[in-house]
Amino acid sequence: MTANTNTLLEVRDLTVYFQGQNKHQPVRAVDGISFAIPEGAFHALVGESGCGKTTLARTLVGLQQATSGEVLIRNQNINSLLKNRKLLAKDVQFVFQNPLGALSRRQTVYQSLEEPLLIHNVGNADRRRQRIHELAELVGLPLSSLDRLPRSLSGGQRQRVAIARALALEPSILICDEPLSALDVSIQAQIVSLFSQLQQKLGLTIIMITHDLAVVREVCTSVSVMYLGKVMEANNTEPLFAQPAHPYTQALLSSVPSPDPNTESTRQRIVLRGEPPSPMAPPSGCRFHTRCPKAVPECSAKEPVLKPQANSGLIACHLV
Ligand code: SF4
Repeated sequence: MTANTNTLLEVRDLTVYFQGQNKHQPVRAVDGISFAIPEGAFHALVGESGCGKTTLARTLVGLQQATSGEVLIRNQNINSLLKNRKLLAKDVQFVFQNPLGALSRRQTVYQSLEEPLLIHNVGNADRRRQRIHELAELVGLPLSSLDRLPRSLSGGQRQRVAIARALALEPSILICDEPLSALDVSIQAQIVSLFSQLQQKLGLTIIMITHDLAVVREVCTSVSVMYLGKVMEANNTEPLFAQPAHPYTQALLSSVPSPDPNTESTRQRIVLRGEPPSPMAPPSGCRFHTRCPKAVPECSAKEPVLKPQANSGLIACHLV
């Protein structure tokens, strides 16, 4: 999770504050986050609602302005890329939670897929038709669906259209905001498998926001666990699920059934007290201390730093 020669996307001490109801107390949606994502990673951002993961993801693609800090793609600051949105669009694309909201209701699937190609002057009509057919095949859409409007498609097909549109310009990075949550459970597995296939086939780097930890374990290569605008723990998926080190990660993962019957039979659910505090007034010290079952007096006085650990993960906890 620290930058190296393979880093494609890097975030340095990023903050995103909003003006809330109280003029003197901004909402600290993202509050000093740093991480590096290597090329080809399938990285998950997890945490409870309101922890700042969607704001972080929107900032990575320039849909949200950072208050301070930097987002770099291939070592280039996103602010310089934002001066030419066309260039940024070729690097990074966003897949929204609700595909129906992300697609124009009046455009056929063909028109939706052709639009980014037209905006970026890709090929002539024949080349564009060829590319649209390639995209449909890539995401498993029948060619007969190209003349249909989004409302006549199933939820799964709509999400396939949204993914195909995001891939039209061959971006290196796909940022997906809860791409499964608007879908029936029976369709979710198909879309998960599609993401996995696309990632391997195209060498994509994917950052996925999700609350579905079973999906994270199945397809993601690494994970950042967020709480109240901060990263509490980040690691590769396997060690994180095998041995979560941060008390918040331990509580989150305790709700996920284990595929191993022996581990499952001894699984103990850790139920956290109360709701997360307001991001307008996060607690002093470790911001998890008001709910942490392992808190010690030091926790409310001193903020733990996110530090590398021996197993290559990063953890912010005084006890680790
Ligand atoms: Fe819990 Fe303290 Fe660790 Fe925070 S620093 S997670 S409050 S033990």
